[in-house]
Amino acid sequence: MVDYHIHLENGPYKLDWLYQFWHTAKKRGLTEIGITEHCHKFKEFYPMFSYLAAEDGSYQYMHEWIKKDFQHSLEDYIDLLLRAREQGIQIKIGLEVDYLPNSSEFIHNIINQYPFDYILGSVHVIGKWGFDYAPRVWEGRDINQAYKDYYQVLAAAVNSELFDIIAHFDLIKVFGHRNTVSVESEVKNILQKMADKKLCLEISSAGIRKPINELYPAEWIIEYAAKLQVPITFASDAHYPEDVGFEWEKLVSCVKKYGYGKYTRFSQRQAFYDKIICV
Ligand SMILES: [Zn+2]
Ligand SMILES: [Zn+2]
Repeated sequence: MVDYHIHLENGPYKLDWLYQFWHTAKKRGLTEIGITEHCHKFKEFYPMFSYLAAEDGSYQYMHEWIKKDFQHSLEDYIDLLLRAREQGIQIKIGLEVDYLPNSSEFIHNIINQYPFDYILGSVHVIGKWGFDYAPRVWEGRDINQAYKDYYQVLAAAVNSELFDIIAHFDLIKVFGHRNTVSVESEVKNILQKMADKKLCLEISSAGIRKPINELYPAEWIIEYAAKLQVPITFASDAHYPEDVGFEWEKLVSCVKKYGYGKYTRFSQRQAFYDKIICV
């Protein structure tokens, strides 16, 4: 078993901190971890986000977080992960990259300069609206429109050819807002594209720790993905050592229920398919 979505951002970029994540992993029976820091932790990505820092009177919270980020260098990050590997930690070098409009070439140029094992693609921002920042940023929002807009951006992310895995596929539900107008056809179209491209769907326990209190993605999405044989990875989206491998048995039993027998691992952006163990 593996956990392919882990953030180090709440501690120093030091081996001691990384070891704490690895200790939890081993305790829970995992054999490999993938570190996937947010791209906005790194100064190299600032130009892509700078439009969100523009003071235009709205989205004050976006200006505030953006000023605090972009502190690290990708080189130091990769160096830490390579040293960890030398020390015997079974670790993959990943990155969680936001899909933002008109940024494909920019992202492509950066990620090709480093020895990543895989790239997670995710959508946290619609236009200038960072919808997962806090529940209060939903005040006055049309929920159905938010869902439609979200899946439109996600479809563009899937089509971008930048990513190996799509993270938290239905993150738009994070705070428990439920759509009343169906997005089934949008979701099914995206899953069909992912199946065609062999782009992985992340099965994540992070949603269990959020107000929505269910897996990412929802079971009906996993069921449809299984029919199309969309490949999958497993994830916790841990931001602290204690969350590594969080509730992984639930992920395994859920995907097995819909017929999945294999999951995906990556090395230097090549996919490998391993048998899912029984729980
Ligand atoms: Zn994310
Ligand atoms: Zn994440």
